[in-house]
Amino acid sequence: MALITAVATLAAALVATTAEARTRRKKKQRAPVTQPRRNNMPVGWTWPPSKAMVAVGKACTGELDALGIAWKAAPRERKVATPITLPVMELGGVKLVSVYRRGPHVMDCHLVLVLARHLPALHAIGVRELNFSRIHAYTNVRVNGGEKRALSRHALGLAIDIRSFVDQDGRKAIVLDDYPLGDKLLLDAEQTLTDGGGFRTILTPRNDPKSHDDHFHLEVRVDYSKAPAPRKPAT
Ligand SMILES: [Zn+2]
Repeated sequence: MALITAVATLAAALVATTAEARTRRKKKQRAPVTQPRRNNMPVGWTWPPSKAMVAVGKACTGELDALGIAWKAAPRERKVATPITLPVMELGGVKLVSVYRRGPHVMDCHLVLVLARHLPALHAIGVRELNFSRIHAYTNVRVNGGEKRALSRHALGLAIDIRSFVDQDGRKAIVLDDYPLGDKLLLDAEQTLTDGGGFRTILTPRNDPKSHDDHFHLEVRVDYSKAPAPRKPAT
């Protein structure tokens, strides 16, 4: 009798363990599906944009005005909090030229603001033109040869992919062909952008050769958690 009880107990324990393992497996399998995409979003980011985000966006366009940069409000674009276009695609003396398609190129104000602050450093090392393949695109993060279940900063209009850099003599340095040869302009541009510290992420053939062998990916950091104090009018 004692033996039967022991066997029954063992069987019950086994069933319980198997059931637990199955639940664990199920949970494990389900995890990527239920994982919210928002985890990768900027601090304070919500959709539709909260009042704080709208205020942060207004402060950004105010900064562009203060810098004397002409911009136009763009029609609402999927997941771009402060969509704008530039009538003249040039910032800090560096032209932004699209490789594949004509404009207007919708982007978030914060990308423009950070480029406006950091492109003068590229101008100083001889860069006169950036050829870009993508700004706004509703895509997931692609890194290290794979795709992550997280919206890319391109989806928010906060990132730009640069295929080549043109110098003051009109020479075009192409990331795919010239970076592996140690092209000075490309290496200097990479170093300058990194040193400038304005970008949240810079992916290049150096740190992501699988997914970024043919372009530099730059994306900006935005904190939407606090509405900024209104700009004081000039006195
Ligand atoms: Zn990119």
